[in-house]
Formats: sequence, structure tokens, C-alpha cells
Amino acid sequence: MHSLARTSPPPPPQVLICGAGPAGLALACALHDRGLAVRVLEQGDAATLAAPGDDGREIALTHRSRRLLERLGLWQRLSDVAPLRRASVRSSGSRTPLPFEAGGQDLGWLVANHRLRAAAWAGAQQRGIDIRCGQVVVGFERRDGTACVDTRAGERHAAPLVVAADSRFSPLRRLAGIGACHHDFGRSALLVPMSHERDHDGVAQECFLAGHTLALLPKTGRRTSAVWTVANAELPRLAAMDDVELALAIEAAAEGRLGPMRVDGARHVYPLVAVWAERFVAPRLALIGDAAVGMHPVTAHGYNLGLYGIEALSRRLEPGCDPGGMDALLAFEAEHRRAAGPLYAGTNALVRFFTDDRAPVLALRRAVIDVARHLPPLRAAITRRLVDA
Ligand SMILES: Cc1cc2nc3c(=O)[nH]c(=O)nc-3n(C[C@H](O)[C@H](O)[C@H](O)COP(=O)(O)OP(=O)(O)OC[C@H]3O[C@@H](n4cnc5c(N)ncnc54)[C@H](O)[C@@H]3O)c2cc1C
Repeated sequence: MHSLARTSPPPPPQVLICGAGPAGLALACALHDRGLAVRVLEQGDAATLAAPGDDGREIALTHRSRRLLERLGLWQRLSDVAPLRRASVRSSGSRTPLPFEAGGQDLGWLVANHRLRAAAWAGAQQRGIDIRCGQVVVGFERRDGTACVDTRAGERHAAPLVVAADSRFSPLRRLAGIGACHHDFGRSALLVPMSHERDHDGVAQECFLAGHTLALLPKTGRRTSAVWTVANAELPRLAAMDDVELALAIEAAAEGRLGPMRVDGARHVYPLVAVWAERFVAPRLALIGDAAVGMHPVTAHGYNLGLYGIEALSRRLEPGCDPGGMDALLAFEAEHRRAAGPLYAGTNALVRFFTDDRAPVLALRRAVIDVARHLPPLRAAITRRLVDA
């Protein structure tokens, strides 16, 4: 177990957060800044959390997320942040791509997930937040106005409010008896870091091709993260390709827009399963981050939504009040479900529409892209969601 150098023992927690991922740690920072005593329980070890390995994910962040991270002092800790200047969407067979831009402003920013995690850890350490590592949560119980969490090591931790921030497959959510709808897309995302000869100019490309999807996400320099989404049965074929073959295949799918490409690091695979928790709160319990809503990555909203949820919850918790009070929790739940519901349903519908390769749907898709090209107000509305969200 990792313990911080302290002169006196930490105060008993008012909020106990399970999971020191980017959502759990950002929430811990936000609640600490509101004057609440927080404890975080995490199954991983401190050394890995302080310097997490590159997991291949490049996280697109909106303007609102940037402001939230700035307020928490976490944005200032990030390095290698790549501006997302424009985006372009195309479907196989559509004549020209559908462009998105925000009139000279950046659409958002891309930053590696491991850098977000490290920044959140450093922010929590600097605040002296009580983080207990190597603690696997295995039990949950409510007793006498508190919620209690048991760990595999036999420890019991209690607080007026417990928050599950323990991933989309949240063990704590299940222990607390909250169900969740899982939508398995039957596909996986293969993430491949690439370097290339031509500048990407900060343009993200989303290519909905027959049978697969390729997203090219601009990183700093002449580097790009290729996110290749394929049916699970296709994975062994891709896994069997060596780096040269894979680079050629990605270059061909990108239609040579970035010039000759080279694989520039380790590949990562993520099975695509979206998760929607039936409730985001229960007596003395709240769900945050992926434990509440686990998004398909195509609309790049997972962590952004996590941050909006953190803002909605922390705004309602006051040091002088019972943090597990049901009124505050229900108000948080209502706000977060209103924000997340349309994005969750819209993203899943978009994925279904753009991955259905039956001829009539394919034709409709091309038509939609062609029509949208001639509807600037529609594109402006989509862009506003990223910039003003
Ligand atoms: C391929 C891909 C691309 C993505 N792209 C984007 C994007 O562009 N924009 C965006 O906003 N989002 C994106 N996301 C989503 C984003 O990565 C997630 O929303 C975010 O990482 C979730 O953070 P979290 O803290 O909720 O969960 P996690 O990162 O899963 O962290 C959960 C933590 O809980 C701990 N834990 C689990 N079980 C226990 C237990 N029993 N006891 C103690 N600790 C436990 C884990 O060890 C872990 O540290 C993407 C996701 C993927 C897969």
C-alpha cells in the first residue's frame, strides 16, 4: 500500500472514491478544492499510477473540458497537447469529405490518455489527497448513515458518500446492485501510432469505409494515431501483419493523404462495448466517469462526459452538508442523464448507421454526407457542440 509522507493522519473521509483513473482522480481534486476530505481506493500500484504506460489512446478534449481541467490545475501539467484544427468525415464512395471547422478557433485538443492520468495523479499528490493503492474493492454495505467498502486485503473504509469511478465494468456498481445496459458492437478498435511524411495540419479524418472505419487523429509533429475499427473476426488477420504490411494497409485506407506512413510504436486493441448504468446514484452512492456512461469512442466523448459529470456532482457537494444527501445526488443524476443521454443514444445510432454496409444504407450514407456538405447550419451546430459544450 502506498502512503503519503504526513505529519498527522488524514481526516476521516467525507467522500470515498473507488478508482484512481482519470475520472476518479479529477473528482478527488475537484472535491478537495471545495473543502471536502476525500480518500481514494485503487487496485493498481502507486509507481504505475505516477508514470502510467502509453495505452495508445489519444483523448480528444472539448473547450469545456479544457476549462474544467484548467480550473483544477491539471491542464497546465499536460505536455504534447496537439490542437485539433479541423475534422473531415467521409464515407466510402462519397465524392468529397464533409468538413468541420470552427472559424479560426481550434475544434479541441488531443492528448494521450497516459498523460492525462499522470497529470491527474500529480494534481492529487500535490493536494496531499489520501490515496490508498493496492486496494481491490470487493464489498459494499450501507450502515447507520454511512456507506462501507471492503477491500480484498480485509480493510473496511466508511464515508457518508462512496463514488464508483472504477471503469465501465465497475465492480462497485455491480456490488451495489445497479444494473447496466451493455451494447457490444462486435467490433474492436486497433490503435496504431504512425509517423508520416506529409503534415496533417491538425486535421482529424474519420473514414467510414466498407466493412471498417479508420480514424486518423493528429498528434504533435508528423505523427498520427490510426484507429482502425474492424469486426472482431478481422482482428487475427490484422494481428498477423508485420509493421510494414500494416503501415501500407493504413496508408492505402487513408488514400495516401499523409504520404508514406510508418508504424511508430506499440499497437493496442480495445473491444468496443458501450455501457449505460440504469441509475447514476443510489443511497450514499454515486457513479462517475465510465462507471456511469461508457461511450463508443467514435464521437470522442467518454472522458469529456466524465468531466461534465464531475462538475455536476462536485458543484452539489458542500463541506457543511451531508455529502450523501439524496437531494443533491438526485439533482446530479438528473443533470448528468440529461447531458449524457442524447450523446449516448446519438453515438450508438451513428455507429449503427455508419457500419451497416448493406447497399441501401451505404447509398443513404453517401447521400447524407453530400446533403450535409450543402447545409452549413447543420455543420455549424455540430461544431458548436465541441466548442461551446
Ligand atoms: C480507444 C479509446 C479511445 C477513446 N477516445 C476518447 C476521446 O477521444 N475523448 C474522450 O473524451 N474519451 C475517449 N475515450 C474514453 C476515455 O478513455 C474514458 O472515458 C476514460 O479513460 C474513463 O476514465 P475512468 O476514470 O472513468 O475509468 P478508467 O480509466 O477505466 O479507470 C478506472 C480505475 O478504477 C480502478 N479499479 C477498477 N476496479 C477496481 C476495484 N475493484 N478496486 C479498486 N480500483 C479499481 C482501475 O484500476 C482504474 O485505475 C476513449 C476510450 C477508448 C477505449
